[in-house]
Amino acid sequence: VLDIRDLHVAFPSADGPVPVLRGVDVTVRRGEVLGIVGESGSGKSVTALATLGLLPAEATVTGSISVTGEQIIGAGPRTLTRLRGARVAIVFQDSLSAFTPVYRIGEQIAEAVLAHRDVDRATARKRAVELLALVGIPDPEIRAQAFPEEFSGGMRQRAMIAMAIANDPDLILADEPTTALDVTVQAQILDVLRTAQRETGAALVLISHDLGVIARMADRVAVMYAGRVVESATAAQLFARPLMPYTLGLIGALP
Ligand code: ATP
Ligand code: MG
Repeated sequence: VLDIRDLHVAFPSADGPVPVLRGVDVTVRRGEVLGIVGESGSGKSVTALATLGLLPAEATVTGSISVTGEQIIGAGPRTLTRLRGARVAIVFQDSLSAFTPVYRIGEQIAEAVLAHRDVDRATARKRAVELLALVGIPDPEIRAQAFPEEFSGGMRQRAMIAMAIANDPDLILADEPTTALDVTVQAQILDVLRTAQRETGAALVLISHDLGVIARMADRVAVMYAGRVVESATAAQLFARPLMPYTLGLIGALP
């Protein structure tokens, strides 16, 4: 579903280009959960943005990124919009900005369904309520009528996941999806992500600096350090035999 090869990204600065990614390789197969861990600034979010074709124009990007067989680097805006609309779901930390404040949650999810499926509005509304139920929103028919600000952070995060999977994505990209939430809600949201991933059969790329989260969720773990994937293994392998001192440090820091 996702194949990143030798990805290099540099940002311009007064002192010339600053390399941020220095040859990232990532492969994710359908139905697989890949966790990406790494310290702040290691390049996790830049990798996610590159995958979505959302890096700022001034960034220098080389290498290859294929999403469901289509090349992202050098793709035109039309192709990127289509891929983002129909193939990829995005879940990030800030659920408030995922929604427009002036429309009801259910309507916004219904719009996402309509953009993808050839159905009438009533069917799309019904599907929106189903999706809200899937992500564990109580009384989904009633809650669908609410505005984004009327939801708690955790509820809104669930709703964002519901909206993200409204297009039956092949790939779900989640960048620190639970960082803004308290610990009990974090666990619930991760379960919801899991459910969403299983329901859609999509691949899930879960980015977190929290190895505990990754270990619980991921089939495979990629450890990023200073703009490279320095280690890639199953969660079990990683814990049994970490190759990099950096990974050992991460494991040592677990409670
Ligand atoms: P965190 O865990 O804090 O989210 P991260 O691994 O996601 O960290 P990135 O956001 O990918 O880190 O950033 C990697 C590096 O790229 C950082 O040094 C950051 O300062 C730099 N960077 C990211 N975006 C830009 C940009 N638009 N312009 C210049 N530098 C950038
Ligand atoms: Mg980040």
